[in-house]
Amino acid sequence: MAKIIDGKTIRDYNLNLMKEEVAALNEQGIYPCLAVIIVGNNPASRVYVNNKKAACDKTGIISREYALPEETTTDELLELIDKLNADDEVSGILCQLPLPQQIDKEKVLERISPSKDVDCFHPENIGRLSIGNGIFLPCTPNGVMKLLEYEGIEVAGKRCVIIGRSNIVGKPMAMLMLAANATVTVCHSRTENLSEITRQADILVAAVGVPDFVKADMVREGAVVIDVGINRNVNERLCGDVDFKEVAKKASYITPVPGGVGPMTITMLMRNTITAAKNS
Ligand code: NAP
Repeated sequence: MAKIIDGKTIRDYNLNLMKEEVAALNEQGIYPCLAVIIVGNNPASRVYVNNKKAACDKTGIISREYALPEETTTDELLELIDKLNADDEVSGILCQLPLPQQIDKEKVLERISPSKDVDCFHPENIGRLSIGNGIFLPCTPNGVMKLLEYEGIEVAGKRCVIIGRSNIVGKPMAMLMLAANATVTVCHSRTENLSEITRQADILVAAVGVPDFVKADMVREGAVVIDVGINRNVNERLCGDVDFKEVAKKASYITPVPGGVGPMTITMLMRNTITAAKNS
């Protein structure tokens, strides 16, 4: 039976370390501050924004919230971002996604100054990451790396298979794994013989967005299985991309959903905000 990787414990461990770091920075007159922009009334976005504020409170990072109405235009949002880019008291800026349809998301994300882009979505930061010179690390993939590190799971030399190639999870996950000297394979919806490939993985990362997508016969005995998925099953219950019950019988380590990768994403956002404050 696999050891369950407890993301909440690892989150708390990391947040406590950051709290000490922020206190030390405060003594030097550095006050990390995260500005979060939320547009409209999406209930899931509201929960995420509240969770981000709670993590700021835990670490001593100053949080500012800018709540804009649903009918906000791209230009109005860009104007706010320009103001925050120019504000020396703001270390990091995050624009909660999804944005209402009328807003040009790419334009907005690219307007955030790369030095304040704590979500690590700006093309400049992704480019830097790909040449091994990143200022920030992408939050969810870096959260996965921290889980592995905490558990003492060696990545160097290991065969890592990632299912999913999105810009937010799959691709940056591959870059971090490569930087950690893993041998990386990225799979997607056009991959042929997927199970054959996933069965070769020492570390299997699922970022698909389909409940119970990864079945036990896709996993090698003793593999480490990381489930990035956050989905709702037919009963509207939160679940990941991995058939947890069956896969846990074969894997050596596994992350649950909820309580695995999820708590680490916001934790790594705090990490990036501290980095931004130190660099400013
Ligand atoms: P996404 O943009 O929809 O990407 C899904 C990826 O899975 C795509 O690359 C797609 O391939 C691939 N895929 C879909 N069906 C497949 C199949 N049958 N076989 C192989 N590959 C397949 O999703 P995402 O943003 O990466 O998110 C993935 C999951 O992670 C979602 O459940 C999301 O909610 C969750 N998530 C969690 C966190 C967290 O904090 N824990 C953060 C972000 C996302 P193609 O490219 O060929 O279409």
